Amino acid sequence: MSFQKLISIQRINDDDIKRAAFRALEAIRAESLMREGMKVLLKPNLLSAKPPERAVTTHPEVVRAVIHWVKQFSPSKIYVADSSGGGARIGLKATINSLKVSGIKSVCDEEGVECLALEKTKREIYPVPNPLVLNEVVSTKLLKEVDLIINLPKIKTHTLTYLTCCIKNMFGIILLANKASIHALFPRREEFASALVDIYSVSVPQLTVVDGYLCQEGNGPSAGDVVKLDLILAGYDPVALDTLVCKIIGLDPDRVLYLAKAEAKGLGSMALEEFEIIGESIDSIRRPFKIPGGKKWSLPFPLPRFLTNYAGRILFRSTVHFDESKCKLCGSCWENCPVGAISPPSKKMKVNKIPVWNKSKCITCYCCAELCPYEAVNFKTNILKNILLSWFGGAMLGIIAIVILLIYL
Ligand code: SF4
Ligand code: SF4
Repeated sequence: MSFQKLISIQRINDDDIKRAAFRALEAIRAESLMREGMKVLLKPNLLSAKPPERAVTTHPEVVRAVIHWVKQFSPSKIYVADSSGGGARIGLKATINSLKVSGIKSVCDEEGVECLALEKTKREIYPVPNPLVLNEVVSTKLLKEVDLIINLPKIKTHTLTYLTCCIKNMFGIILLANKASIHALFPRREEFASALVDIYSVSVPQLTVVDGYLCQEGNGPSAGDVVKLDLILAGYDPVALDTLVCKIIGLDPDRVLYLAKAEAKGLGSMALEEFEIIGESIDSIRRPFKIPGGKKWSLPFPLPRFLTNYAGRILFRSTVHFDESKCKLCGSCWENCPVGAISPPSKKMKVNKIPVWNKSKCITCYCCAELCPYEAVNFKTNILKNILLSWFGGAMLGIIAIVILLIYL
């Protein structure tokens, strides 16, 4: 079996992240990729400016452990870089702030490695091989200047994609307002999953170390509950690693739409039986997570596609709610909404000073919740209300009214 088919799952004992990371990398023989003088890029998850204990960003001690491991091979340069969430007006500021608050900047300074906001690097246009929905991706030139990319994702549930880990983490190579544009261009889960796969395919990190130390379940990737899973995973195949993570957290991998698409595009395999899993067994570490949106709905009979689309778009549509007790009117939600569906409260508002949401514009991309620094944005789904307010509900009410009239006349 090729060493590329190895996956390692290591338990973190007594918070010794470095020991677990070294064990994981040695078990998959990752030293085979390393040579003296190479330039190495570490790509953490840097979603927003949250401290390590909130489990939103890759834990700084996971970043430190991988820096230590890479240093053994005398690289000429190690970069730790990402682009945080944030629109054009606050993108660079948001990334710099996230690097500081997440603790990653301090670790880089202490270890003497370069910590970069990707917005500060030179741009490059990358053609997408075998594109699904994106022909090209504008990102940092760094991707082609380095010899090795190591993906450092974190395990979190995600309101839109259900899981964020290996494949989704590379969405961070999209800079500034381009992230919002991609949400706006591909508002539906399926299209967005295709865009994620296209984006991953222009970077294709050669190695992945998964931060499963502090994770998020429920209302992730930003406002979820923290789970101390105490795991480090390492491997080469992002599809297999994401599939494995799904099994660990009790999520059906078929719900994570980008996995089958990535497999079909040749980026990896969901067939875990093709891999040798070293270390902990899945059964010994399984810990079901709260999944956003609850259990998968399924009908005992198939529906025509237009009806399932209708159900997804109208009946299961969520509405945005702002928690007045938490909202500080910081502006992140209206700055980052890709379609301008949120505006600041009007000056005439005397009470309930919260942002104003425009339902007709909203594409339910969940960016506002992801990027609210105060976890003041929630989504609620009221299926009954959605039915009653839809044309289907209106038509049903009309039919019922006519039937009642016919009975009594
Ligand atoms: S909801 Fe959150 S992001 Fe929006 S203004 Fe309030 S605190 Fe800022
Ligand atoms: S209101 Fe929130 S969920 Fe709706 S489009 Fe804007 S950022 Fe996305």
